[in-house]
Amino acid sequence: MKTRASLLIICLALLILCPGRSSAVSVISPTDAGRVAIHSEYRRLSQGEVVKVTLVSPEAASALLSFDGKEYPFASDREGLKHFTLIVLRLDMEPGTYDAVVHLQPFHGAPKDISFKLAMSPGTFPSSTIRVAQRFTSPTAAEIKRIQEEQALLRGIYGTSVPGWLGTGGFVMPVDDRVTGVFGARRVFNDEVVSRHRGVDIRSPAGTPVKASNTGKVVLVRDLYFSGNTVIMNHGIGLFSIYCHLSETAVREGTVIEKGTVIGRVGSTGRSTGPHLHWGLRLVDDYADPLSIVHLSFD
Ligand SMILES: [Zn+2]
Repeated sequence: MKTRASLLIICLALLILCPGRSSAVSVISPTDAGRVAIHSEYRRLSQGEVVKVTLVSPEAASALLSFDGKEYPFASDREGLKHFTLIVLRLDMEPGTYDAVVHLQPFHGAPKDISFKLAMSPGTFPSSTIRVAQRFTSPTAAEIKRIQEEQALLRGIYGTSVPGWLGTGGFVMPVDDRVTGVFGARRVFNDEVVSRHRGVDIRSPAGTPVKASNTGKVVLVRDLYFSGNTVIMNHGIGLFSIYCHLSETAVREGTVIEKGTVIGRVGSTGRSTGPHLHWGLRLVDDYADPLSIVHLSFD
């Protein structure tokens, strides 16, 4: 990236409060055109969480945030004054202090880099053993082919971006019932397949309406091998919400739907042990705990 070469790196005042607070790191950086403020907001700074980073700068034509080897684009408000992005503290990141760098491209003049640090603590994740139909742990050749085709389809969907930010205000729970399966749990299926739970399970009666957690574009409505009837929404800046095991779906691929729209009903299709909603969140190729985004504020 051009921005990195010639840059004034301003690394400054840094305030890190305890985990558990909803916001914490702020950086104020004086620049030629005034002040640039960076602020982060989160539920916890631990593995699996989403962190919102806000940049207030009247001079930013565009901005990107580099964190943990990935680049996250900022979305801008209408006035071009406030910009935000979302990053994920991956499940497999080692606890520790990480550098984040905002690459700011001003309307005029040279690009600037502004650095700050995020101190991440370990998350706590339970383990469980689950029994499912044999076909989910020992699929046949034909089933393996289907699984691979679906993986390719999903890669294409997650690799396609929409311009800007489509969300409207904060994220809401898609159903109002109790979470019975937490994000990141280690799971052993039929004593054979070990995986991490890449979403949350919400135990709702079959037929309960499932609502879109925020406004976005419906990018997939399919019956998939593992996740059953599935709806995926793209909200912009690399963020997708995923709704699985539905008994039926009520939206069409390619449409933009408002937050709260009923997208389908709770069911038990795919690799499921009973009616529940598996709700997932994917951000720039990593899964994150969807409950962490519900705690964030969006203007
Ligand atoms: Zn699940």
